[in-house]
Amino acid sequence: MAKKITAYIRLQVPAGAANPLPFARGNAAERVIADPVVRNRGTIGGSLGQADAAEDLSAVCSAAKARSVVRGAEGERVVEMEDFRVGPYTTAVGAGEMLTEVRLPLRPGAGSAHEKVERRAGDWAIAAASAAVWVDRGRLADVGIALSAVGITTIQCELMQPVWCALAPRITSPSSRLKRS
Ligand SMILES: Cc1cc2nc3c(=O)[nH]c(=O)nc-3n(C[C@H](O)[C@H](O)[C@H](O)COP(=O)(O)OP(=O)(O)OC[C@H]3O[C@@H](n4cnc5c(N)ncnc54)[C@H](O)[C@@H]3O)c2cc1C
Repeated sequence: MAKKITAYIRLQVPAGAANPLPFARGNAAERVIADPVVRNRGTIGGSLGQADAAEDLSAVCSAAKARSVVRGAEGERVVEMEDFRVGPYTTAVGAGEMLTEVRLPLRPGAGSAHEKVERRAGDWAIAAASAAVWVDRGRLADVGIALSAVGITTIQCELMQPVWCALAPRITSPSSRLKRS
């Protein structure tokens, strides 16, 4: 669980640590967001709350099948990422509510990657893609794919996910295919 106040810099964990999430290793998404100044101050909650179509962590959270927790005076509700973004710079967070948690499922056999095309190091994406896979006994059991900066908001490629699961060849381990997790 990553809370709103978690700055990007604190989402990074050492290489080899047992964390199968897209935030975790190598060229992870939060390492390609802007520059160290932004990464030291920006937060995952602010990134999702801003709902810019080019937001890197929005694609990561969608691919990882994260869910957001929105709290208000009436209590809290859990919102899927697809429903959290309701349009450009617009989220499902209503008046008097705030995003208090981002819940990322920890499941075995996970691998992930985030690839970004930018004009200069630290720029916003021209396009970015996040992918997460979950392998069970050598077969793709589940896939999450999301794209940044190619539409009016982050695009979750839900229709493609079952196709990938059906067509993908046998995989020995997720890390052998997805080196840039
Ligand atoms: C120079 C620069 C370069 C950048 N480059 C990139 C990039 O390459 N890739 C990328 O993904 N991002 C990039 N960003 C965006 C940056 O990473 C942050 O997402 C953004 O600046 C938000 O910062 P923040 O976390 O301080 O949120 P804030 O500025 O505090 O908030 C942003 C929005 O979210 C709302 N909000 C914040 N917290 C909550 C909450 N808990 N509940 C409900 N609403 C909330 C705020 O009301 C506001 O509307 C860049 C930003 C800058 C300034």
